[in-house]
Amino acid sequence: MDLYEHEARDLFAAHGVPVSAGLVATTPEEARAAATAIGGAVVVKAQVKTGGRGKAGGVRFAPSPDDAASAADAVLGMDIKGHTVHKVLVTAASEIAQEYYFSFLLDRANRTFLAMASVEGGVEIEEIAASTPSALARVPVDALAGVDLAKAHEIVAAAGLPVEVAPVVVALWEVFVTEDATLVEVNPLARTKTGEVLALDGKVTLDDNAAFRHPGHAAFADDHAGDPLERAAREKGLNYVKLDGEIGVIGNGAGLVMSTLDVVAQASTELGGSGPANFLDIGGGASAQVMADGLEVVLGDPGVRSVVVNVFGGITACDAVADGIVRALEILGDQARKPIVVRLDGNNVDEGRRILKTADHPLITLADTMDGAAHQAASLAAQGV
Ligand code: GDP
Ligand code: MN
Repeated sequence: MDLYEHEARDLFAAHGVPVSAGLVATTPEEARAAATAIGGAVVVKAQVKTGGRGKAGGVRFAPSPDDAASAADAVLGMDIKGHTVHKVLVTAASEIAQEYYFSFLLDRANRTFLAMASVEGGVEIEEIAASTPSALARVPVDALAGVDLAKAHEIVAAAGLPVEVAPVVVALWEVFVTEDATLVEVNPLARTKTGEVLALDGKVTLDDNAAFRHPGHAAFADDHAGDPLERAAREKGLNYVKLDGEIGVIGNGAGLVMSTLDVVAQASTELGGSGPANFLDIGGGASAQVMADGLEVVLGDPGVRSVVVNVFGGITACDAVADGIVRALEILGDQARKPIVVRLDGNNVDEGRRILKTADHPLITLADTMDGAAHQAASLAAQGV
């Protein structure tokens, strides 16, 4: 999960990384009040989960509270690379002497962590890194040894940063490790004219697989970012990914669902269709409630024209899954309006099929094979039922 700058800033502050005073505002009036509370000149910054806000006009200097209000008025509602600005961060403006770049990240290719640092930070860092790779120091960090002050001095020296930066590097490492981040990036890490070192921008990616260790991170979940169906699915604990096509895909087990996506994509393409509408793994249990939740999410996608349910019965046998589908359709009632092709195989398949045949639901078609199910769903979608 990527964090907003103001959330990253809060984590920085909690771990002793120096940041400027700052307040979040969602209206020009709130921005005015924030600027008054902070006192002096401020910077009004668009809060969107993409870089290049400065170049897009999303970072504005405001000498007075009135200027902060009009800056917020201009920035709120702005579109930055497809992200709408719903809130701004109002921060005390610093007089910058120099802008550095600093990051810790997970270096998957080298199976280690990596510190990257440059004396040439600021909004041109991507261009600099591409044109002058030597300007960006890369220092591997051993996961077990971590970053103590001595290691921080090694990193700082490799990049040619002043020694005052070293304690900030140790604090940033603490953020990285304690919060289970896969990226902590500060650009600019600024040296001010009064000699302070300040993290003036922050980008943090948290490792979602470690979320169970951080109940506090749930507060970072985003109201605006992401697809509403994905959010509904997440709330129900479903493993759902929205795709662009027209055929809903539900299965048990990630491997089976991915194979189903492949055959559905192929069958759909043959008929000029647009392929799978989603990935949805209902997991091993596949109870009636989980099936109902899954069908509700998939049928709730206006792009879906037909659905494939592909289940291989294991410990949860096919009869239980078939029961689940029948009861799911009862729960959904006339919310369910799109044809559903079901392919069952595995443990107790005959009883599963018998249950579905007996139920004789008008929306359900039974298929014998995965390919057959995919072709049937593709042709139902093409008929525009
Ligand atoms: P980004 O463009 O999305 O990376 O947004 P940043 O937060 O990095 O802001 C872009 C640029 O605005 C920075 O590189 C600075 O040059 C400038 N900036 C941000 N905060 C301040 C500040 O407090 N004082 C000054 N003088 N410039 C700032
Ligand atoms: Mn930046």
